[in-house]
Amino acid sequence: MLKKTIICLLMMSVFVLAGCKKQEEKKDTLSEIKKRGELVVGVKYDSKPFGFVEDGKLQGYDIDIAHLIAKRILGNERLVRFVEVNSSDRISKLNSGEVDMVIATMTINPKRAEVVDFSLPYYYTGQAVMVRKGTAIKTVGDLNNRRVIIVLGTTSENNIRYLAPEVILQGYRTYQDGFQAFLDRRAEAMTSDDSILAGFVMDHPEFMILPQRYSQDGYGIAFRKEPQSASLKIEVNNAIGELRRKGHLNYLKGQWIPASSGNFKK
Ligand code: GLU
Repeated sequence: MLKKTIICLLMMSVFVLAGCKKQEEKKDTLSEIKKRGELVVGVKYDSKPFGFVEDGKLQGYDIDIAHLIAKRILGNERLVRFVEVNSSDRISKLNSGEVDMVIATMTINPKRAEVVDFSLPYYYTGQAVMVRKGTAIKTVGDLNNRRVIIVLGTTSENNIRYLAPEVILQGYRTYQDGFQAFLDRRAEAMTSDDSILAGFVMDHPEFMILPQRYSQDGYGIAFRKEPQSASLKIEVNNAIGELRRKGHLNYLKGQWIPASSGNFKK
């Protein structure tokens, strides 16, 4: 009996030690990025004007931020590789190690902060509702008993259930699919961040955004919630502070974000 217990204890300590070794072996993310000479960033490909493909080119506000961070970390803004993420898979792609960080219109909130670490906010927006011009829908309350498009895994999906409890939600995995459904008249409204909806209205003046905003969101860059990402987060926060101080964030806003719907400067 005693012999069995000793063997058990010995085996347990071997597992514990092996676990510690594994932890130790995991390298600091910032050092790894510098060693490989490339920053790997998860971005949206379908969220104009933040991350989108047009004329075969991936571009937008979040894409420019990624280039500026690559410049700060690696001294060259071209040393960045983009990986497509969407609102429902961005956290799993980050936590599986596929990307070093996520820059993807991601609202900082306490629930997400339980599973990822966030940078300081680099952009502010609010939830809005897009409708067809001439519609009877005037406020969020009018969405009750009406079909409304949301993108799955977003803050808008959660919020709208409180704002209009009787709403009939139509969920899509990507903004492309959600917007196509709206174009196909499968719903009377679509709700998301005003800056993303403004990207649609810019190309479709037959749509409009209702004047009210239903949240105040700060977009953050997400990192794995682990000690190995701590120095990367500090470096990125310093970069955001500097970009803000030097007016680069404002400049990018003027470059990419419509001042109001349909007023898009590039
Ligand atoms: N900012 C909102 C969110 O993080 C909506 C935009 C998005 O889908 O990324 O859920």
